[in-house]
Amino acid sequence: MSDCVFCKIIEGEIPATIIDSSEHSLAFADISPRQPVHILVIPKTHHSNISELAFANPEALVDLVQLGSRIASERTNGAFRLTFNTGAEAGQTVFHAHAHLTARTPKELGGN
Ligand code: AMP
Ligand code: ZN
Repeated sequence: MSDCVFCKIIEGEIPATIIDSSEHSLAFADISPRQPVHILVIPKTHHSNISELAFANPEALVDLVQLGSRIASERTNGAFRLTFNTGAEAGQTVFHAHAHLTARTPKELGGN
């Protein structure tokens, strides 16, 4: 979608700190981190929220969760959240499906 900030990141039209990617998903640093680990994981195709992605392309949803889990295993002590704000009232501000991967303890600070 032409006016979608996350589509623009996928297209390389605006910069982002890319963390990793997979067949269907892209992960990059949240521009305004609220936890010591705060990474966004998004589908490479535009869907306005995670529910729409789940029905339109379940394989891409699984791919997104797997990429988030892989990054979590690399960057956290094993305790993390994957959060999907869905709808403006729930705090969604960017209407391209995304998971917030957040964690309090980066891997280098110890743990499993
Ligand atoms: P939400 O409020 O759940 O829709 O989350 C949107 C997230 O996108 C927020 O945490 C923002 O900090 C983040 N964000 C917005 N624009 C950018 C950007 N250009 N690069 C990286 N993160 C962004
Ligand atoms: Zn988009």
